[in-house]
Amino acid sequence: MRATKCVAQTFHNDSIDGLLRDCLVLTYNAMNNGEENHITNRKGMRMFYRSLKGVELPSCYKLGVITRACAVLKSRLKSMKRSVETGHPRQLRPMVCITSGFFVTMKGRLFIPLKRDRYVDVPLNAYVQDRLEGMKVRSLTITPDSLSFCISEEVEPMPVKTVYGVDRNEKNLTFGNADGVVQLDMSKAVRIRQTTREIVGSFKRNDVRVSKKIASKYWKRANHRTDQMLHAATNFIVNAAAMNGAAIALEDLEGIRKMYQRGNKQGPDYRFRLNSWPHWKAKRMLEYKSGWNGVTEIHLTKSETRGSSSVHHACGEKLHSPERGDAVHRRMLWCQACKIWVDRDVNAAVVLSQRGLARFASSLPRLQSPSQRESFEVGEEGLAGEAMKGNGTTTSILRVDASKLRTRRVTSS
Ligand SMILES: [Zn+2]
Repeated sequence: MRATKCVAQTFHNDSIDGLLRDCLVLTYNAMNNGEENHITNRKGMRMFYRSLKGVELPSCYKLGVITRACAVLKSRLKSMKRSVETGHPRQLRPMVCITSGFFVTMKGRLFIPLKRDRYVDVPLNAYVQDRLEGMKVRSLTITPDSLSFCISEEVEPMPVKTVYGVDRNEKNLTFGNADGVVQLDMSKAVRIRQTTREIVGSFKRNDVRVSKKIASKYWKRANHRTDQMLHAATNFIVNAAAMNGAAIALEDLEGIRKMYQRGNKQGPDYRFRLNSWPHWKAKRMLEYKSGWNGVTEIHLTKSETRGSSSVHHACGEKLHSPERGDAVHRRMLWCQACKIWVDRDVNAAVVLSQRGLARFASSLPRLQSPSQRESFEVGEEGLAGEAMKGNGTTTSILRVDASKLRTRRVTSS
């Protein structure tokens, strides 16, 4: 399994600006060419590539330009098939991604080709140097103010002993299985976003351009702060999963934004609160971090997770919401069969872990190594014992404030 991730560094150089401008012009040309001749793949762009013979630009950029143009055309074609309106002509940002032509020296300097035998020499910072050490650099993406390396490594997937369900909602990240659940409190992230919204909303300026600029500054800061917490929380989850040999089962949250749109009879503050939580960001972080640590992920489909938040994990009975105004049992659900209150999020995480395990069991013949199968069977048995009546109270719950977690680097073992 190949794991990839990016390392970025801020960077600005005037001669790069010119280069990016040239590349952008070429990208538009390539797009026009592809559109005229109905080409959306790189192979079909051969003629266009040959026509660039006179252009004084290293060939790595020409290839990067064609790749990007093809990607844009392809996605446009896809949108048109789905009858989604596309912006045309589309405005692109100056950016180029190259897979060859550049090199990093032992002393941590990056050489970006400009013309024949002419390079821009960029000193890399200590962090980037450290991350690139011993890694295979797959590509370099250049934008007007940053450099981003895509690095990859072959990671041996770890044997799966158990499955952790991960439940995401606007207040916390909950993960675990029937033996134990950890709840990471993310309410501070929501609070940060709410305060930022209040601050930005209180601007009294009548110059839109200036207030926009200031607002974006505040939002940038808010995003940085919430990203820190998200990183800490996802690191925590992936580390725990890696340590206990667990796979991660994630819920498909596509369409969750549609539930809180304008016209759904919800107040603007409520909508903001539920829409402010970056689900996709958490998902993406979990994906790449687990890939990097050899942790298996299970993406549950909508039909597999149906009723995951309304069924008791221990007995399968439907759960009941507390009465209105019941402050003691907020975010709790009542199981009539077991006669207990269960935490809504904890229950959802355990149900997700069970569904993930079920999916894993169905794909079992595809597991090659016997040790992997053996360890899995042990895990299943443990869970089967758990799913009996009256055992619902054995799940231990640990609550952690995610804003107090220290951001630690995930190290691959
Ligand atoms: Zn029950």
